[in-house]
Amino acid sequence: MSFADIAVPAPFYPSDTVFTYRIPESLEESLSVGSLVKVSFGKRLSWGVVTHIHHAPLKEGIKTKDVDSLILPEPIFSEKRLRFLQSLSAHYVYPIGLVMESAIPTPLRNGSPRTLRYTVPELLPALRIEPSATQLNDEQRTAVKSISQKKGVHLLWGLTGSGKTEVYLKLIEEVLERGEGALVLVPEISLTPLLTERFEKRFPDQVALFHSAQSPKKIREAWFEVWTGQKRIALGARSALFAPLKNPGIVVVDEEHDGSYKQEEGFRYNARDAAIRFAKHFSCTCVLGSATPSAEALALVDSGEASVSVLRKRAVESASLPKLSLIDLRLNLPQEIKIPHVEIKDRFEAPRAPGDFFLSPQLQLAIDETLKAKEQCILFINRRGVGSQKLCRSCGFVHECPNCAVKLTPHSHHLACHYCGYSIIEPDHCPSCSSPHPFLQVGTGTEGVEEALSLHFPSARVLRMDRDTIANKNDLEKTLNAFSSGEADILVGTQMVAKGHDFPKVTLVGILLADMGMNVPDFRANERSLQLLMQVSGRAGRSKSPGRVLVQTFQPEHPVFQHLQAEDPMESYKRFLSEEMIKRKLLNYPPYASLALLRLDGLVEDRVQEASRFVAHTLNRAKAPGLQVLGPTPSPISKLRGRHRRQILIKSQSKEVFEQTLHWLLQGWNKGHCEKKYKTRLLVDVDPVQMM
Ligand code: ADP
Ligand code: ZN
Ligand code: ZN
Repeated sequence: MSFADIAVPAPFYPSDTVFTYRIPESLEESLSVGSLVKVSFGKRLSWGVVTHIHHAPLKEGIKTKDVDSLILPEPIFSEKRLRFLQSLSAHYVYPIGLVMESAIPTPLRNGSPRTLRYTVPELLPALRIEPSATQLNDEQRTAVKSISQKKGVHLLWGLTGSGKTEVYLKLIEEVLERGEGALVLVPEISLTPLLTERFEKRFPDQVALFHSAQSPKKIREAWFEVWTGQKRIALGARSALFAPLKNPGIVVVDEEHDGSYKQEEGFRYNARDAAIRFAKHFSCTCVLGSATPSAEALALVDSGEASVSVLRKRAVESASLPKLSLIDLRLNLPQEIKIPHVEIKDRFEAPRAPGDFFLSPQLQLAIDETLKAKEQCILFINRRGVGSQKLCRSCGFVHECPNCAVKLTPHSHHLACHYCGYSIIEPDHCPSCSSPHPFLQVGTGTEGVEEALSLHFPSARVLRMDRDTIANKNDLEKTLNAFSSGEADILVGTQMVAKGHDFPKVTLVGILLADMGMNVPDFRANERSLQLLMQVSGRAGRSKSPGRVLVQTFQPEHPVFQHLQAEDPMESYKRFLSEEMIKRKLLNYPPYASLALLRLDGLVEDRVQEASRFVAHTLNRAKAPGLQVLGPTPSPISKLRGRHRRQILIKSQSKEVFEQTLHWLLQGWNKGHCEKKYKTRLLVDVDPVQMM
């Protein structure tokens, strides 16, 4: 008799918990390690994956059920892939069955042999590679050579527009010619249709797309095209990492610094880090590409775990780096506001309308010049809506979301919560003091800028790009196409405009309020601000006409700006990050220590508090050597969608201590039925990105 250990999608701890089933005779031949099967679990049938097969009889008294059936005739995971997923499960302290749930698309998990029928083509199509339109320059050639010489992790550090994508394409060409496959990860595939096009053009019929917005049919198709070897390039966001490539030769992570590689719900993995792990398990090459590498990537280079290739100049001849100037927004404040320590001889004329404040005279002049030259501008502000807040002129009351501890953001016709979507029409009277005076609007957002532009540049054609105007891929493509074909002069947007778009006619980029994002309680705040500002700046002057970037801020003396303005942006970025990294080393933060954020949330505030004290106490009592426990404290957003939130940070120099403690904690939490007891959820976020 044989038995199979099977992982099922359920939250069991320790995270490698599997269940033993008997293998019926009818399946003895066809079942193997990695098989996707159906088993009865609890009261229902569930999918599961075989992790181990054994023949020794079970201990007396142990009853097993039979494996119900096989969903796919061949194992869905090779042993290598299984080990890879198990290592993710251990690292992220997340149950193996739920890790697999992320790795197997829904239509497959829920499929049956009938719906998942596929044919393996007898003859694979001959590999076609279209020649590149450009010849690699010296820097690019050197990069390709040094990356293809050695397996392992490589950082490709190249300014925006320096030709990193051409390097990926060349490397993938070599991989395909060797008969291997390629994974290409991008932060948000729907934001980069042009990149997709470039891959499809170069490698016709070889690119399978993976992203969550696809229909089940498309997902199934893409999955089987890769599975059967018909297509050997899997391109997509995070989830493309789990495309079933048989023989991967390279995994490319474009814009590796991007925070959206981190999944923020369920299985909270970081696809960049997972890609590095993947390359180790599959002994293939991993390329991390960025103009503004993360501290994590630079630390790998420092420690010798990754090599680095640098692209210093823009690839298109004559495209030069944009010229950047800082504008001190304080000079735009009305006369009566005094600013300590700042001489205010040259104040600008008082702004006329609220949104005006963020269009300084210099910026207005620059926009005017750009429009006259028939060139295009991008204006960036990282907030939607018409303002940041509206407050009562008599009592200072600000509308707050009833579900979240955040203020509502004003839009032209309503006030909205950007976290849960709650919205109201602004009442006539202040709910607090009944004052009938209209509320005072402070700050601005994309809608506010759009309004101010219509005042100052009535004939300019303006497009807005934010989550209010872009609901899906179609909207996005429409807007991108309209702007690149010159149907608009100005594009106003949130960080959506910062992603790798290439608009050759853009010669002016205005960053309206660069301070946003620097004042948040997050140890990566500075790193992220500089990355974002450099990415946005990189949109200017991507072809022949020289570009310029105007950056408006209330704190021009902040070190981030000194670095943004530097002559040699790469050198300066490096210096800035080295300083950041010294701080992190001192404070024991990643990349120099393991960090996890434990979040507790629930509907009853007292219970959440009790639970968080219990968890912190348990951790402290464990006396794990070198483990630092910080908190509990209320989360920066202390209430979200009706749930009260508290958090605890834990840090450790020792990965083993760190992982063991977390596994032990979660096991205890589950065994003690603490979720029920405290009416509180405990969520463990290993290597957190979102600290709020
Ligand atoms: P990145 O990915 O670093 O932003 P891209 O690969 O998109 O850079 O290149 C930017 C622009 O330069 C693209 O229009 C690309 O076609 C062009 N380009 C890239 N490499 C070369 C080259 N060696 N010669 C001429 N043009 C190039
Ligand atoms: Zn009031
Ligand atoms: Zn809300």
